[in-house]
Amino acid sequence: MSRLRLAVIGVGHLGKIHAKLAATIPEIELVAVVDSRLEAREALAKETGAKPVAHFRELIGEIDGAVVVTPTVTHFDVASELIRAGVHVFVEKPITPTVREADELVQLARRRQLVLQVGHVERFNPAFVSVQDRLQEPKFIEARRQSGFTFRSTDVGVIMDLMIHDIDAVLSLVKSPVTSVDAVGVSVLGDHEDMVSARLLFANGAVANLTASRTSYAPARDMQVYTPTRFASIDFATRKATVVEPRMDVLQRDFHVNELNDETRNHLREKLFSELLVKEEVPAVESNAIEQEQRDFAEAIRTGREPRVTGADGRDAVAVAEMVLASVRQHQWDGADSRRIGHLASPMLPLPMVAAMEEWATDDTVILRRKAG
Ligand code: NAD
Repeated sequence: MSRLRLAVIGVGHLGKIHAKLAATIPEIELVAVVDSRLEAREALAKETGAKPVAHFRELIGEIDGAVVVTPTVTHFDVASELIRAGVHVFVEKPITPTVREADELVQLARRRQLVLQVGHVERFNPAFVSVQDRLQEPKFIEARRQSGFTFRSTDVGVIMDLMIHDIDAVLSLVKSPVTSVDAVGVSVLGDHEDMVSARLLFANGAVANLTASRTSYAPARDMQVYTPTRFASIDFATRKATVVEPRMDVLQRDFHVNELNDETRNHLREKLFSELLVKEEVPAVESNAIEQEQRDFAEAIRTGREPRVTGADGRDAVAVAEMVLASVRQHQWDGADSRRIGHLASPMLPLPMVAAMEEWATDDTVILRRKAG
């Protein structure tokens, strides 16, 4: 079988990493690196041996697949044009900033029978992969994702930028529709929300608490998953996972702490995490998650099977992200009659200004109007 002829479109921070990795995978031929910025494409072309190209249209007919790593607000335009031209698409997360665009992209790829994969890279994180099969029917999940402000991805807020990773991972585990969301968030440095805490309720009774911040001095990416039979702690940053499995008598409510004699209590205190709540450090297979997603993309194209993270998965994550955003925008900071509403409200602003800003919280077009004066 011939190699997959691939282009990476948008070679900024993440696109560079994609291109350098693609150049090392034997099943892939990195044909071109595309960027509207001359210096970005020229520098990377030298490094990878690929052709520097200003616009992907020049490549139609020369490539089988493309990795789209342009800013999120451009994903729909770039990906839809590629699909219409018969190119398989791997698009970075989030698939698009709106469900409406995501739906259209998914339909388009289906009609053309092309692979549409989304870059929810944590699904390839060795820590997640090492435990996911043991996490059947989770009932409670907590996830925290925080970073410093990178001054990139400012075209969207922290929900579409960071929380979307955890939304996707949670949906892949819970496998039930989200029925309601309660969220609060604030913008710190721009017009979009930068810190958000959300509680998701699922039709099957599961609950997920998600926190995301991109203005944090303490980077972290972790998740705790509680199932009826075990608990797992996943650290996406260190790529380590720990599982705790209660002993059978504990699970069956046949363990009666008040009936234990002193000797047994002392013994179990010492052996709590080896005999009663048995703790296991799960060894993760060392692997590069981005390389694994590219290999998955190439394999899906070659065999016709679905990629691990489909366009529909990316669409579902955006649908939930929109629910979180809607809840953030409706939050009333001072109670039921509050005039401070949504992520742009600030306790520092006098109320007359709040009144003028109330409008903003409703949609982004108002924010744009404010910018335009
Ligand atoms: P970036 O700003 O560093 O890079 C974007 C690049 O795209 C720039 O070089 C820009 O010149 C180029 N570009 C813009 N429009 C273009 C067009 N129409 N055609 C060709 N080139 C174009 O951004 P980034 O941080 O690399 O993020 C890019 C995307 O990757 C975003 O959607 C972001 O959400 C996603 N991302 C995903 C992860 C992850 O963990 N999976 C991490 C970071 C970024």
